[in-house]
Amino acid sequence: MPATAPASVRNAPHVGRALRAADVTRAEDGELHLSGAECSDCGTRIFPGAPVCPSCNGERMKPLPLGSSGTLYACSTVHVAPAAWQVPYVIGYVDLPEGVRVFGKIAGTDGVAAGLAPDITVRVHVEEAAVSDANPADASPAAPTYHYWFAPA
Ligand SMILES: [Zn+2]
Repeated sequence: MPATAPASVRNAPHVGRALRAADVTRAEDGELHLSGAECSDCGTRIFPGAPVCPSCNGERMKPLPLGSSGTLYACSTVHVAPAAWQVPYVIGYVDLPEGVRVFGKIAGTDGVAAGLAPDITVRVHVEEAAVSDANPADASPAAPTYHYWFAPA
């Protein structure tokens, strides 16, 4: 079943960042997953991907499909945000088993980080963004954008 962002995510849809098509892969079952990059020279893994390795400046980066769950590293509640965004909401870093730490919004918390704890398991949700959800500064009519969020498993 395709993921649908909860209202708490849609009210600030591009927390984290609008993703390029290259930052997402679709599994055989149709589920969307994040995709990072791995350096073929030194093994550094990053998300989102980039054409040049941030560790060795190598240019032999290959796609790194990422899984659908990880562990919460740290999080915080945001009470002050741009006027159109509904507060509070929770942001945090999630460690994925592939070795990358990803920043994003955490849903399913009623906007409060206090109920969360480091190392809990969170699911990664990825969704194709409707045009109206896209950050106008990032949007291109020719390029689909995606957004992602985390939620306690
Ligand atoms: Zn490298």
